Amino acid sequence: MTYPIVETFHSIQGEGFWVGTNAFFLRLGGCDVHCPWCDQKETWPTEHHLQYKSSDLAEKVALATPALVIITGGEPLLHNLYPLTQALKEKGLRVHLETSGAHPFSGNFDWVTFSPKPFKMPDQSVYVQADELKIIIATAEDLDWAEQISQKVTSNTLKYLQPEWNNPNSIKIILEYVLRHPQWRISLQTHKFLGIQ
Ligand code: SF4
Repeated sequence: MTYPIVETFHSIQGEGFWVGTNAFFLRLGGCDVHCPWCDQKETWPTEHHLQYKSSDLAEKVALATPALVIITGGEPLLHNLYPLTQALKEKGLRVHLETSGAHPFSGNFDWVTFSPKPFKMPDQSVYVQADELKIIIATAEDLDWAEQISQKVTSNTLKYLQPEWNNPNSIKIILEYVLRHPQWRISLQTHKFLGIQ
């Protein structure tokens, strides 16, 4: 099994519950959600990226000895993630997923970050898999969407609101909302503040 790879890099997880953790990223090509503010538009086509075998990817990640490996995109669930997660698990790695949930769930993960977007509704199979729910907030209207989605995840799912990077007013919107709705937490893109990948 091969996967289209946009890039691989070793950094820290910048967002959500695992912020600051030593992490190796596998960014898979292909996304059909097409968020207008997407900062990874080069990932959208599937066919423009080199294909790598799951065993070779697992070998590369294991050599970096990260605390965890994050499969991201693009939208990783466009691909069958069972062979890739299997290969990573065989190396003894902790495996995380970041997904919009726009396609049926696949793979064996230790942690799932579910970040649905209103531009393509999530598949029903993804809601129960979410360890954390992360909703990007650009305007106050997005808070209604966040509440609708949060009704469908489990009671154990951590709930985060994250400001859209190019919309500074979103930080104020989220702060005021979280102070009135303590079931939500704030997630910041700390890697962008640090100026790292
Ligand atoms: S789901 Fe992610 S990669 Fe796809 S368009 Fe939206 S922000 Fe970009």
